Amino acid sequence: MTYKIIPPGGVIGILGSGQLGRMITIAARRLGYRVHTYSPESASPTGQVADCEIVGSYDDIGAVRMFARDVDVMTLEFENVSSEAVRAAETVTCARPNSRALYVTQNRVREKTFLRDSGFPTAAFCAMTSADGLRAAVSEIGFPGVLKVADSGYDGKGQRIIRAESDIVPAWRELNCRSAICEAFADFSAEASVVLTRGADGACAHFGLFENIHRDHILDVTLAPGRFSPALAIEATALAERIAAALEYVGTLCVEFFVTKDQGLLVNEIAPRAHNSGHVTIDSHVTDQFEQCVRAVCGLPLAAVTQHRPAAMVNLLGDIWFTESGARREPDWSAALVVPNVKLHLYGKTEPRRGRKMGHITTLGDTVELARDKAFASRSALMKG
Ligand code: AMP
Repeated sequence: MTYKIIPPGGVIGILGSGQLGRMITIAARRLGYRVHTYSPESASPTGQVADCEIVGSYDDIGAVRMFARDVDVMTLEFENVSSEAVRAAETVTCARPNSRALYVTQNRVREKTFLRDSGFPTAAFCAMTSADGLRAAVSEIGFPGVLKVADSGYDGKGQRIIRAESDIVPAWRELNCRSAICEAFADFSAEASVVLTRGADGACAHFGLFENIHRDHILDVTLAPGRFSPALAIEATALAERIAAALEYVGTLCVEFFVTKDQGLLVNEIAPRAHNSGHVTIDSHVTDQFEQCVRAVCGLPLAAVTQHRPAAMVNLLGDIWFTESGARREPDWSAALVVPNVKLHLYGKTEPRRGRKMGHITTLGDTVELARDKAFASRSALMKG
């Protein structure tokens, strides 16, 4: 099989300009690539470190195609980009991941249908376009159900729990969408993820099964490795490899799982990009998810992903810039960095907002619990005073 190889010195185009693009860019620059970024934002986290920042709408097919003309390969760090625009860009450059993988994974109805039809385990679900459709869905799935908008949902946004018949109409009105799915509520014992990179030659490399703890639907902590049996980790990573192959995926992707109480796995969602849970790999593994992404999209061999030591990552949200009474404050960086072995990553966002991902802290330790406790101590120190 032949595939395009982009040697160092080439130009990588990234659709999206957030922290994932920033970290892809840093890895790309280490390998001697140039990076262009495209998004509606300027002075963005990615734009601050890229060679070129183009400002435009994700729906502007002509502008995305023009952006694609100037790059050797195009990738993305954000999935809510028009797949039609990526299809148009594919006519002038190489898109990794391909537009079909994006089309399938950026919409929950298509994603879950693809998973079910391909034989991957998911919670029972139904798609609908009206409150009546939702009523029919819960009569099939049962209460409680989790209603999710089909497009543009993330971090629990665009979701409602349907506990009773009386929730149906208000929840449908509140979500105010044209298309949605309702899933059976997964009574899970843990949430987990596999961050995997698939090369242009079809070779895969992954970082094992991470354990993720969410707070208010936003990832709070990742433990690497997750506290799961080796058999479960093997099953999850094999599923992720099969999903990536079925999508003919090239690049880094994340498969998020629910671990059920009887140690089964349900696929919750597929992120067609590097993932927050994979940030831990920057400090904990020989090669991180961002360098793997660059290698894959440029057609280079993937690297070893050996882990140095057990590790934990905690997210830093904009909340730490505010006191309990809502006044602005500067986090106490010195106090946080005094904790031994703490690695601080900030994304260059100038405006902290509650719930906004501003950075993360990673620590290594003899066990994931010791690493996590050190990361917590460092994060707490930020908020003192
Ligand atoms: P999502 O945006 O689909 O990743 O969902 C965000 C979070 O909501 C997940 O990480 C879970 O904590 C929770 N969640 C989503 N779907 C379900 C479900 N079917 N059952 C139980 N909890 C869910």
